Amino acid sequence: MSEAAPTAYEALIQFLYQVPIGLVQTSLDGEITMINPMAAQLLMPLVPDGNLSNLFDVLHAVAPQLRGWSGGGAPEVPPGGVICESLRLTLPAVQQGAPQTLALRLLRLDAGTLMASLSDVSYMVLQEQQRLAKQLRDVTRIDSLTAMPNRMVALERIQGALAAAAADAQRQFAVLFINCDRFERINLTLGTAAGDELLRMVAARINGTVRLGDAVARATGPVQTAARLGGDEFVVVLEGLRIADDARIVAQRLTEVLCKPYTVGDRPVHLTASMGVVVCPETAASADSVLQDASLAMREAKRAHGARYCVFEPLMKEQAWRRGSIEGELRRALTEGQLFVVYQPIVDLRSGRPVGAEALVRWRHPERGIVPPIEFIEIAEETGLIGRLGEFVLRESCRQFMAWADELGECAPLLLSVNLSRAQLFEGGIAEQVATALRVSGLPPDQLQLEVTESLAAQDDRIQARLHELKALGLSLALDDFGTGYSSLASLHQLPVDVVKIDRSFVSQAESSGHHRVLIEATLRVAASLGMRTVAEGIETAGQAGILQALQCDKGQGYFYARPMPSDEAARWFCARAPQPCLA
Ligand code: C2E
Ligand code: CA
Ligand code: CA
Repeated sequence: MSEAAPTAYEALIQFLYQVPIGLVQTSLDGEITMINPMAAQLLMPLVPDGNLSNLFDVLHAVAPQLRGWSGGGAPEVPPGGVICESLRLTLPAVQQGAPQTLALRLLRLDAGTLMASLSDVSYMVLQEQQRLAKQLRDVTRIDSLTAMPNRMVALERIQGALAAAAADAQRQFAVLFINCDRFERINLTLGTAAGDELLRMVAARINGTVRLGDAVARATGPVQTAARLGGDEFVVVLEGLRIADDARIVAQRLTEVLCKPYTVGDRPVHLTASMGVVVCPETAASADSVLQDASLAMREAKRAHGARYCVFEPLMKEQAWRRGSIEGELRRALTEGQLFVVYQPIVDLRSGRPVGAEALVRWRHPERGIVPPIEFIEIAEETGLIGRLGEFVLRESCRQFMAWADELGECAPLLLSVNLSRAQLFEGGIAEQVATALRVSGLPPDQLQLEVTESLAAQDDRIQARLHELKALGLSLALDDFGTGYSSLASLHQLPVDVVKIDRSFVSQAESSGHHRVLIEATLRVAASLGMRTVAEGIETAGQAGILQALQCDKGQGYFYARPMPSDEAARWFCARAPQPCLA
C-alpha cells in the first residue's frame, strides 16, 4: 500500500502536469494557490513580467468583469456552482498571425476557493470563421431563388474553359445562353410568386437535362455547369465536348424539354425558351464577350419567334452593330421630322369604290433615301421608340384625314386604318394616346380602325383589357395578317375584333392553290358568322380580286388597286375615283 500511494500521487501530479487543459485554483479574490503548466503557458502572453500571482490581475486587460463577479456575484454562487461558463478571451497577438483565443470556465469549489479551467480554442474559432466566410461566399455565388450557381460562377467557368482551351486545342467547350420567351406575360397575368415558381421549374428542367447528360457526357465526362444569370436568363457551360455538334444536341434537347407544358398551382402554363449557342469561342476572348456573343445569338432565336436555339456567327455582331446605329439614327429621325406617312387605299370589292386607307410609316433617311418600315419597326419595338413612332403616325394620319375631309369633301376617304404594334399595347397609356389624337384632330372615332396582329390579340387578359379600352373609345379593331399567327379560326370568336385582314401570303396563292382558296373561304365564312367584316391584303392581280369578290370578301387592298402613296398623290388617287367631281 505504502508503495502504491506515492505512485498514485505521482500519477495524479503527472496527470495535472500533462492534461492539455489549463487549471488554476484561486482564492475568492483571485490569488493563485495552484496552477498547472498548461495554464501558466496559456496565460503567459498576458503577463510580460511573468507575474502569475493573481488570476484577476492577469486577466484584467481581457476580462475586467471577473473581479466584479468574484467580489459581488461569486458569494451568491453556492459551492460547486458555475460562476462563468465559456468566457472567450481574445489575447493580443503576440507576433503576427491570428490572435489566440482562450475559453475560460470559472467554478466555485467551496466557500473560499475558485477553480478556473482554460483551453486554447483558437483553432475552433478559426474554423468557425472560415465556415462563416464560406457561407458568405456561397451567398454571393448561389442564386437564392433557384439555388443554382450565379453569374459570377458562370463567368469563372467560362474563363476557366477558355484557359483550358488555350492550353490544349482538344478541350472544346460551348456556352448556351437561355432566355424564356415573353416571361413578362407570366408575371403580369399570374403574378410574381407564380413567376418565381415557374423559374424554379425551368431551373430544375435545365439541371435535369444537363446533368443527365448523354452518350457524349458519359463517354467523356464533361463538366457541365448550369447557372442563373438573373431574371429569366440562364446559362449552361458545356466543357470537354468531343465534337462541336454535341453542343447542338444539348441545345436541341434543352429547347424541347423547356417547351413542354408546366403546371403552376393548378394552372397549366405554356412557356418556351430561346437559346443562343457559342461553340468553341476564340480562346483570346473574355468570358464577358463570350456571354455577350451567346446573348446575341439568343436574340436571333427570339427574332425568329423563339422556342428555338441559334448558333452564334460573327456576322451577328455586325448586324447588332447596324441595329445599334439604326437606333441612334431613328431617335434623330423622330426629332428631326424624317418620318412621314404614306397611305394605301382600301376599296370595296363589290363596287370597286375607295372606302379608306391604311397609314404606313416611311423614313426619309438623309443618306439612304426612303427606308421601308420592315427595316426599323422591329428596332423601334425593341428599343422602346415605338411609342413615339406610333404616336407620330397616329397624330399625323388623323390630321391628314381631317385635312382631306376639308379639302376633298365627298372624295375624302372615310376610314383610316393605323397599325398598332405589340410593344405599344404593353407600354400602357395607349387608350389615352389614341383619345388625345382623336380629340386634337377632331376625327370621329368611328372613322378610325386600329390594326393589331393575330399573335398579339390572342394573348393574355391584360392585352384583351387594353383592346376593350380602345374599343370603348368608339373605334374599330382589325386583326392584321390573319393566318400567319397562332390563333386559329376556332378561337376567332374570343378576340374583340371587328375586322379580319386576310394575310397577303394567302391572297397571293389564291389563284394557284386550291388549298389556300379553301382556307380563305373558311376564314371568310367564320368571320361572317361572327359578324366580322373582312379585308383581303396584297391583291396584286385581277384574278385574285375576282376570286375574293366571288368568295364575298368585303374589301381589298393591294398593288392591283394602288401602292402606298404620299398624301398628295393619295389625294389625287381618291379624287380620280370619286363618283362626283372633287372639290379640290
Ligand atoms: P402590314 O400592316 O401588313 O402592311 C401591309 C404591307 O404590305 C405594307 O408594307 C404594304 O406596302 C405592303 N403591300 C400592300 N399591298 C401589297 C401588294 O399588293 N403586294 C405586296 N407585295 N405588298 C403589298 P410596308 O408599308 O412596307 O409595311 C410593312 C409592315 O410594317 C406593315 O405590314 C406593318 O406591320 C409595319 N408597319 C408599317 N407602318 C407601320 C406603323 O406606322 N406602325 C406600326 N406599328 N407598324 C407599321
Ligand atoms: Ca397593317
Ligand atoms: Ca398586314
